[in-house]
Amino acid sequence: MYNRQYDFISNKATMCYCNNLSTFDECCKPVITGLRQASSAEQLMRSRFSAYCTKDAEYILNTYASSQRAMHTTSDILQFANEVNFIKLDIIHAYSDSEYDYVEFKAHYLAGDKHCQLHEQSRFILENEKWKYLDGDLFESPEVKIGRNDICPCNSGKKFKKCHG
Ligand SMILES: [Zn+2]
Ligand SMILES: [Zn+2]
Repeated sequence: MYNRQYDFISNKATMCYCNNLSTFDECCKPVITGLRQASSAEQLMRSRFSAYCTKDAEYILNTYASSQRAMHTTSDILQFANEVNFIKLDIIHAYSDSEYDYVEFKAHYLAGDKHCQLHEQSRFILENEKWKYLDGDLFESPEVKIGRNDICPCNSGKKFKKCHG
């Protein structure tokens, strides 16, 4: 059902895609399946990242703010999810002002032998007491070429050539 895109080392096999210290079943899956509501903007952001990893385009579409939803389609989302091989999520910080909640994060992904980052500050709002993703500002991020014998940036501890290379 959930198409795991990358090969974790065995003791990380059940960890959530969002790099939380719990399993996918306990962390993002219940939020994605609707069993549990995201209790914060950060939790919603994590669940959307995991939904990209599991290619759940419908969830991603449904968690856009209503004002944004018409600008996206599940096929566009799926296309992006299929193009990008996400390997890691770093939450930089989460904070709020009087109007919005913000999460700044780095979503690491691989494009061939390049390690790239989607570094974004996202804005979230509550709609009918549910957290929704409104929009985000992107930061410029470096692309780093990975050598075949370098340690893989996915944190597996393996050499790139034996992991994602
Ligand atoms: Zn998670
Ligand atoms: Zn790897």
